[in-house]
Amino acid sequence: MEDKIPDFSVVIPIYNEEENIPELYSRLTSVMEKLGSYEIIMVDDGSKDRSWELIRELHTKDPRVKGISFSRNFGHHIAITAGLDQARGNAIILMDGDLQDPPEEIPKLYEKFRDGYDIVYGIRKERHDPLLKKMTSYLFWLILRRFSGVDIPAGQTMLRILSKRVLEVLKGMREYSRFIHGMMAWTGFNMITVEVQHDPRRKGKSKYNIPRLFKLAFHAVTSFSTVPLRIATYVGLISSLISLIAGVYFIYKKIFYNIPILGYASIIVSIFFVGGIQLLMLGIFGEYLGRTYQEVQRRPLYIIKEFI
Ligand code: UDP
Ligand code: MG
Repeated sequence: MEDKIPDFSVVIPIYNEEENIPELYSRLTSVMEKLGSYEIIMVDDGSKDRSWELIRELHTKDPRVKGISFSRNFGHHIAITAGLDQARGNAIILMDGDLQDPPEEIPKLYEKFRDGYDIVYGIRKERHDPLLKKMTSYLFWLILRRFSGVDIPAGQTMLRILSKRVLEVLKGMREYSRFIHGMMAWTGFNMITVEVQHDPRRKGKSKYNIPRLFKLAFHAVTSFSTVPLRIATYVGLISSLISLIAGVYFIYKKIFYNIPILGYASIIVSIFFVGGIQLLMLGIFGEYLGRTYQEVQRRPLYIIKEFI
C-alpha cells in the first residue's frame, strides 16, 4: 500500500482548524472513496490548537492520512508548497482546510481533468464571506490581474486539480516569496475553470485580515511584475514636464506683466508633494531590494518538526 502510487494526492494546509478537521476528513474520504486510491496530506502550519493531535489520530486510524508539522507558522502558500513536495499521486488536488471549498465538488473538477487539462480551477459562483472581505478580495484580484502580467483566473478558490507536469514545474520553483495562484498560472499549461459552490466559514476564524491581504497583494504583484519600479520613471517624467511648463509660465508673467509670484503655500505644498512621491518610490525600491536580499539568503522555505 505504501509504495503504490495513489491516483490522487489531496494537499490541505491547516492552521488552527481543530473544529473543521473531523468533518473535513469524513466528507473528503466519502468523496474520494468513489474516485480511486488516494492519500491526504495535511500540512500543519504551526497551529496553536489541537490540529496536529487530530491529524495524528487520523493517521493512526487511516494510514492514507499523512501529516507534516512545521516548527512554526510559515504561511498558507508555504504550507501548500510543503504538501506539494510530498505529493506522489497522479493527480494533485488542492483545497483549504476550512471547508469553504466543499469536497463534494471534486468529482466535477475531475471530470474536466480527465478531458486532458493540466490545471482545473474551482471558481466561486457566489462568495459567502463578510462584505468587507468580499470588497477587499475584489480589489485584490483587480490589482493582481491588472499588474501581474500572467493570466490568473479571477475569483479562484484554492480547490483545484493539477497534473503531474504542473507539479514537477512547481516543485522546481523555490522562490521564497510565493504566490501559488500566480505561479500556477505562470506555468502556462492548459487550464480550465469550473464553477463551484463556496460556503461560508462555519467554524474557526479566517486567517486573512486586511493587513495580511494587502501584504499578499503587494507580494503577488511584486513577484510577477516590475511595473511598480517603472512607476518612478513615469512619475518623474510627468512631474518634471509639469514643473517646466509652470516655470515658463511664471517667468512669462513676471517679465511681461510684472505680476509678483505668490508663494509660501504653493511652495510648501509642492515640497511635501514631491517629497512624498520620492519617499514612496524609495519604499517601492526598498521592497524589491529586500525581496532580492531574502531570495539571495537561500534559507529553506520551511522547517519540518514532525512527519507522519
Ligand atoms: N492557513 C495556513 N497558514 C496560515 C493561514 C492560513 O495554513 O498562515 C490555512 C487555513 O488553515 C485554511 C487556508 O489556509 O485551511 C485558508 O485560510 P483562511 O480560510 O483563513 O483564508 P480565507 O478563506 O479567509 O481567505
Ligand atoms: Mg477560508
